[in-house]
Amino acid sequence: MANGLLEGQRAVVTGAGQGIGLAIAEGLASHGARVAIADLDGDRAVAAASALKSAESLGLACDVMNETDVDDVAAKVVDAWGGIDIWINNAGVTRDASLRNMTPEDFDLVIGVHLRGSWLGVRKAAEVMRETGGTIVNISSMSGKVGNPGQTNYSAAKAGIVGLTKAAAKELAHRGIRVNAIQPGLIKTPMTAAMKAEAFAATEATIPMGRAGNPSEVAGAAIFLASPLSSYMTGTVLEVSGGRGM
Ligand code: NAD
Repeated sequence: MANGLLEGQRAVVTGAGQGIGLAIAEGLASHGARVAIADLDGDRAVAAASALKSAESLGLACDVMNETDVDDVAAKVVDAWGGIDIWINNAGVTRDASLRNMTPEDFDLVIGVHLRGSWLGVRKAAEVMRETGGTIVNISSMSGKVGNPGQTNYSAAKAGIVGLTKAAAKELAHRGIRVNAIQPGLIKTPMTAAMKAEAFAATEATIPMGRAGNPSEVAGAAIFLASPLSSYMTGTVLEVSGGRGM
């Protein structure tokens, strides 16, 4: 339901062609923001953007690991809407394997998409928001807090995002730019649909609330951190995990 909380705000959400990013984009749009969806899959980004219930939207192809792509996204949004107020670094991949089986390529890709991708996004957003202020939200994971076997690459990247968030929050606070992170637990998306059913059920059984989360429940926290409702919060990490890993 639109309530004008983010009326007129200009938002970029990376990896928003599906899953949590799409739910965040839909949530921001429902509160009045204009939203640009940036995704590795450009067709999916365009389709998702045109389906958004927002006055204006953009769908853009972007590999968050590629500096030129990230610069292009920012340039196109600034060209269309005159600036950027909200930037959500959400794009992600997994390449799970035991330490014995994980390859350096699996490590580099996961670190690259999450950590380099978020860093490029934070850096670009900060540049655009330098005179106006703004809010940046980075999607980490409970895996970065507690560590998950089979995810040494992903846990390292997601813990790194917490450090990035806090360092950037300290660096940018005086510019009126807030930087916060979210650590989702087990959320029902295409990413976790790829998990083996037994592994999903075993993880779900460890959740105090007794169920996996929905993408819209992560979006609620992202909307809060992106909005003036969290105006005195920066450098924080919100856990959206049904109590898992508290
Ligand atoms: P998903 O796989 O459903 O969607 C990820 C999206 O990111 C896809 O649209 C994909 O095309 C895009 N993407 C991948 N690589 C990209 C790149 N290099 N550049 C731009 N876009 C790229 O995943 P999801 O479950 O929606 O996850 C979204 C974020 O939430 C990720 O950062 C993920 O690590 C994090 N997360 C997910 C869960 C979960 O349980 N699903 C839990 C904790 C954290």
